[in-house]
Amino acid sequence: MDYRFRQKKLFAEAPARFDALLITHLPNIRYLSGFRGSAGVLIVTGKNSVLFTDGRYRHQARSEARNSKVVIANGPALQAAVEWIADHNLRVIAIEAEHMTVSVRSTLRRLLPTSIRLRDTRGLVEAIRMVKDDEELQRIREAARLGSSLLDTALQVIRPGVSEIEVAAEMEYDARQKGAEAMSFDTIVASGARSALPHGRASTANIGNGFLVLDFGVILAGYCSDKTRTVYVGKPTARDRQIYEAVREAQQAAIDTVRAGITAGEVDSAARSVLKRAKLDKHFTHSTGHGVGLEIHEPPRIGSNQTETLRAGMVITIEPGVYVAGQGGVRIEDMVIVTDQGCEVLWPARKELINL
Ligand code: ZN
Ligand code: ZN
Repeated sequence: MDYRFRQKKLFAEAPARFDALLITHLPNIRYLSGFRGSAGVLIVTGKNSVLFTDGRYRHQARSEARNSKVVIANGPALQAAVEWIADHNLRVIAIEAEHMTVSVRSTLRRLLPTSIRLRDTRGLVEAIRMVKDDEELQRIREAARLGSSLLDTALQVIRPGVSEIEVAAEMEYDARQKGAEAMSFDTIVASGARSALPHGRASTANIGNGFLVLDFGVILAGYCSDKTRTVYVGKPTARDRQIYEAVREAQQAAIDTVRAGITAGEVDSAARSVLKRAKLDKHFTHSTGHGVGLEIHEPPRIGSNQTETLRAGMVITIEPGVYVAGQGGVRIEDMVIVTDQGCEVLWPARKELINL
């Protein structure tokens, strides 16, 4: 990973002017320096970068953040960063407004000399994180491959009477056995009427008849994966089949729309218009997808009227769903890498309605 290149790009592409950027969001610190610790502050200037952390990370910081100067603070890392700023004749310091608490901001204001200005910025690092480099894409492919394999694990244990949590536990155990650092979010196993909850975390409820939504992902080498499949326990009614096929068609229509140059809103509307024709659009209550990378949800958002233009190297999910309250829901999700001609699906997996 070329951290210095990323730091330069950040300065070159930032719409606002500042002398240094004070990075406090850990995934952004990792992206710009390589440091993976859970406490630290990074200052990036046009010329260099300095990572401030504490004694617990003395060795880790030096081995991971090789392109940055490392300062081990005796007290709070932020305090050490403030002293460094005051010593280096910097006038305008950009902060990550979305990632800094009001309390930290006021501490910062109090500690800094009054001649130094704070400039609130939003999503600067996230904007350059949207397009992944080759090494990131390779890590994401591998995370997605491992993640996708958990569908088979789930299919082996799903049967009526087994609890949702047991299914999640088998998937998560298998993920760790295969080398995952962690799950990228709490595994969703939502059965029967609970499948109508778009974020129905696995509960102690037993699996009953009806749709069963499985939404799961792993973190591998720092990068997240995200996939959803919906299966059916028992015998689906004609109406259930119709709902499933409409969601499958909507997901395919959106995937077929993806390519560099298209807006996020156009991808969303490709999925939404299929569900509208099937008179199911009022049950599609979320966006079609989101970016994935170091974080499970990151820009761009693939939603209605989103004007962000897709670029080659972006990694997004395509995940339309239909949720009928009290009855059940269907969601089908794949990650795709945007290319100039279309997209690369990670990884193709069965999409016909699996009946268990
Ligand atoms: Zn998901
Ligand atoms: Zn997702």
